[in-house]
Order: sequence, then C-alpha cells, then structure tokens
Amino acid sequence: MRIGIPTEIKNHEYRVGMAPAGVSELVHHGHSVLVQRGAGAGIGASDADYTAAGATLADGAQAVFAGSDMIIKVKEPQPQECALLRKDQLLFTYLHLAPDPQQAQALMASGCTAIAYETITDDRGGLPLLAPMSEVAGRMAIQVGAVSLQKANGGLGVLLGGVPGVPPGHVVIVGGGVVGYQAALMATGLGARVTILDRSLPRLRWLDDQFKGRAQAIYATQQASMTAFADADLIVGAVLVPGAAAPKLIRRADLSRLKPGCVLVDVAIDQGGCFETSRATTHQDPTFVVDGILHYCVANMPGAVPRTSTHALNNATLPYALALADKGWQTACRDNAHLARGLNVHAGAITCPEVAQELGLPL
Ligand code: NAD
Repeated sequence: MRIGIPTEIKNHEYRVGMAPAGVSELVHHGHSVLVQRGAGAGIGASDADYTAAGATLADGAQAVFAGSDMIIKVKEPQPQECALLRKDQLLFTYLHLAPDPQQAQALMASGCTAIAYETITDDRGGLPLLAPMSEVAGRMAIQVGAVSLQKANGGLGVLLGGVPGVPPGHVVIVGGGVVGYQAALMATGLGARVTILDRSLPRLRWLDDQFKGRAQAIYATQQASMTAFADADLIVGAVLVPGAAAPKLIRRADLSRLKPGCVLVDVAIDQGGCFETSRATTHQDPTFVVDGILHYCVANMPGAVPRTSTHALNNATLPYALALADKGWQTACRDNAHLARGLNVHAGAITCPEVAQELGLPL
C-alpha cells in the first residue's frame, strides 16, 4: 500500500503521524511511504532520517495526498486537507467528529474512509489510542503544577517534595484513571503527600494496591472531596464520564474554602473542565487567576512535548496502521472488532453510532 505522512498544519501542532522508526516498520512490511519534506521537524526528525528509514520525500501536502492510498496524521484534517481527500482513500488519525459538524460534512463530501484513533476500543473497555496522550497529560500535570506553585508564578510558594525538616506539599488528584494514576506516580516520585479521589471502588482498590500507602485512595463523596481540597496545595482535575461533559466538582463558591495561592490543573478541560471556573487556555498563556486561585487549563497538554507524544502515540497506532496497510481496511476491521469501532466515515456517511447520534445524522 502507498502510505502518506503529511506535515501537521493545525496551529502549534508539532507532532507527526509517524516517526522514522514507524516508517521503517511499514517499509519492512513491503509498503511505500511518502513523507512531506519537513514533516518531522517538530520532533527533531530530519528528511534524511526519513529517507534512511526507507521513505520517499514529497514537496507539499498536495503531492502526499495525491500519491497515497492511506494518510496517517495526528490531528483532525483541516478544511484544506479535507479538500485533498478522495473517494478511494483511507484516513487514519484523531477526528473528534462529535462536536465538529463542519469537518464531518467535509469528510462525507470527500467520499473517503476515515478511521478515528479515539473510538478504537480494547478488551478491557479502554481506548488504547487515547491512553498514551492521557499518560503524557497526567505526568505533565504535576510538572506544570509544581512550576505554577512558585510564588513568582502566582502560586502558594510551596516545594512539592518539601526538604528535610519541612513537610511536603499536598497533591489532591480527582479522578484516578489513566491521567490520575500517572499524575500520582509523578507526585509520589517527587515526595509529595498524595490523595486520589475516585468514585469507582474497583479502581480505588487497584490504586490502593499499586501505591501501598504512598498515596491515599479515597472514595469521592462530596464531603471527603471538600475536606481534601481545603488542605491541598495542588489539585489535579482528571475525571471522565464517558460521553458526557465533565462534572463540576469545585464550584466558584468553593474557591474561598481553598488555600489562597493553591493551584488547580484542570486536565479534563477538553471535556468542559471539572472546576466551574475553568476555561480553556493555550500553551502561550496557560494560566489565569480567579478569586486568588491559579488555574492551568490547557486543552492540548501533550502538544507541549511533541517528541515524547509522537513516539508514545506511534507506539500505540503502529500495530493498527500495519494491519490496515497489510490487509486493507475491510479485512483488518473484519478481523478486529475493536479496530472496526474506529470506523467513523465511509461512502459519504457517518458510520459510528455515537458520532451520528451526536451530530443528528443518519447512520
Ligand atoms: P479515565 O476514564 O481513565 O479516568 C477517569 C476517572 O474519573 C475514572 O477512574 C472514573 O472512575 C473517575 N470519575 C468519574 N467521575 C468521577 C467523580 N465524579 N469523582 C471522582 N472520580 C470520577 O480517563 P483519563 O484518560 O484519565 O482522562 C481524564 C480526562 O483527561 C478526560 O477528560 C480526558 O479527555 C482528559 N485529557 C486531557 C488532556 C489535555 O491535554 N488537557 C490530555 C489527555 C486527556
């Protein structure tokens, strides 16, 4: 199969659909890979790295789209990319179509077949192509929270790990899923005191077993949550209710019960945020203050570390990309029901029930 890797064009997107190591795997499976010149610049992969991996280089996105049977990307196609897609072409990328009717219409009009990373499932009910980005965001949450806690940045002026003779900071993580667990790993690693709040008993049992007393896993009743929040130096919002907006777990009126200068990192901001006062921010201007409480609410945290994020994403996407290229999408989806859940658009129609329902379109 002819596979195309265009340069990402969304504002401040530095990741790339496939790093040279993944290209080399595809080439070893007998496929040809066309990479847009400069596509890997944001992760430090040069054109020479791609040619050494067996790719051919192309000038401009138009040549990549025209010369490929499957396009592998990171972000949803922008309008000018949708215009380059065609009927017999396969697109494999994050789409997030439910809140984006314009993109849905453009993909349907192109006639392409689009498989979305975010709706592929696994045997444990997880979303294996979302998990790597949650891992990155969870680990980053503590890093950005620790910096935000510095006095000059508007925080309390607390060092999360403390020092000998001075107690560490208290990190409260609400939602102990993929993001929350990775955040807790980083926070305990720094030597902070860590509380994880969740509403799933099986998850609390698992967290308790993992941390063996180095973090407290607590059932998130309103009362237990507020007691923990009031004592926190850093609060990480990491809840997810699948298919729904994030529940608001700290209301504006609650801010007065927090320590002044306490930091809120709302990782769940891409689902509307789990603090009432959250609003999406960017890496250029990531924080703002409400009632003396610093908020960090960047909606695409993994974008700040494109090298780590690209490799983490590629590790997860490569097996599916190989299956699609080796077998063709129909056979690959017939053989793997989880991959088939990724099919979002085919023959001018939306094929994912949840997305069709959200967009008010027929299946
Ligand atoms: P996950 O499904 O693995 O974990 C969510 C956890 O929240 C679950 O353990 C669930 O039991 C718990 N939960 C649900 N409702 C709760 C409540 N009311 N109180 C306490 N706990 C509750 O999800 P995840 O992969 O960890 O993702 C968490 C959030 O982070 C999602 O909204 C995701 O979209 C977001 N995210 C954001 C970025 C970013 O750049 N900002 C990056 C990756 C993920």
